[in-house]
Amino acid sequence: MTGTAGRRVNLLDFDRPGLEAWFAALGEKPFRAVQVMKWIHQQGVTDFGAMSNLSKALRQRLPEVAELRLPEVISEQISDDGTRKWMLRLPDGGAVETVFIPEAGRGTLCVSSQVGCPLECSFCATGRQGFNRNLGTGEILGQIFLAARLLGQFPCTPARRRITNVVFMGMGEPLLNFDNVVRAINVMLDENAYGLSRRRVTVSTAGVVPAMDRLKEASPVSLAVSLHAPDDRLRDQLVPLNRTYPLKELLAACKRFAGEESGSHEQITFEYVMLDGVNDSSAQAHALVRLLAGIPAKVNLIPWNPVAGVDYRRAKPQAVERFRAILQRAGLITITRKTRGDDIDAACGQLVGRVAARAARHRRERATG
Ligand code: SF4
Repeated sequence: MTGTAGRRVNLLDFDRPGLEAWFAALGEKPFRAVQVMKWIHQQGVTDFGAMSNLSKALRQRLPEVAELRLPEVISEQISDDGTRKWMLRLPDGGAVETVFIPEAGRGTLCVSSQVGCPLECSFCATGRQGFNRNLGTGEILGQIFLAARLLGQFPCTPARRRITNVVFMGMGEPLLNFDNVVRAINVMLDENAYGLSRRRVTVSTAGVVPAMDRLKEASPVSLAVSLHAPDDRLRDQLVPLNRTYPLKELLAACKRFAGEESGSHEQITFEYVMLDGVNDSSAQAHALVRLLAGIPAKVNLIPWNPVAGVDYRRAKPQAVERFRAILQRAGLITITRKTRGDDIDAACGQLVGRVAARAARHRRERATG
């Protein structure tokens, strides 16, 4: 929990219970945690001296023992459709990307949870880049803080709110970075911070079955599952994690998460990237209908975005439409996701395809410049 500098604690690494404990250890009342969280996450204030309802002594002491360490924004790109993508550099030189997608009536922030990803899905740009490390809580929260600041959301009022939804669909498998992701979600949901409703925060997993059960216990947010295939043989190829947690186990975990036994019926979103001649046939659509029987499911069909060096093709529009019609006739809510921001490489599976190269260039420029 201490900063990499070893002396000062990064207050972005804490959720409310953590911050209360930290203030208690400092000899301060726990309510200081709520005051400081509001300053940071609702007012966008990072200067302890400006936190006017703290005692003068505390305002003077905080900079000696604590800091707000944020990733550095290296670049911002704005797509023709309004999608904004920021590349963020981390203190150790790693880089991640965060994407904001504005839509009528809502704004969705897509955050990263790891630098790279260890799961190596065969169609994914991030997976091909390899795995570097987990992000810390403060590095995940830093993404929403910076986006809120850059979008003009601070000081946050209902009228100024731009970020209404958060999806963990950027770089990385969030459930392999469980504790940091849950701590960051706690702050996103906290009424003293971003105050998002739990249904508006979505964790997307390739199917880390044991962590799906833990997530339901720790933080019952919305769940999306990257499915992409209706049978084990194909899914073993597309999502190698399937060899560890095959479809039977994954679907059983989905049923537990949906709360079928308790009757709570949480809807689960299944992501299905459409690949020409690989997973887009009518027979596969019918197999998917059978697979999802008994689960309160919504299916997102995603046009695949080309990745350099990957030998797939985007499914043809007619195939996507045929696939969608079969699912819909069977009663499955099915959405064909619009491709957003593909002129700036912000579309799903393209995230951070070129981050490593750009970050290296940026480091060289800084070193020489
Ligand atoms: S699709 Fe998701 S889980 Fe698979 S390699 Fe890419 S980032 Fe990782």
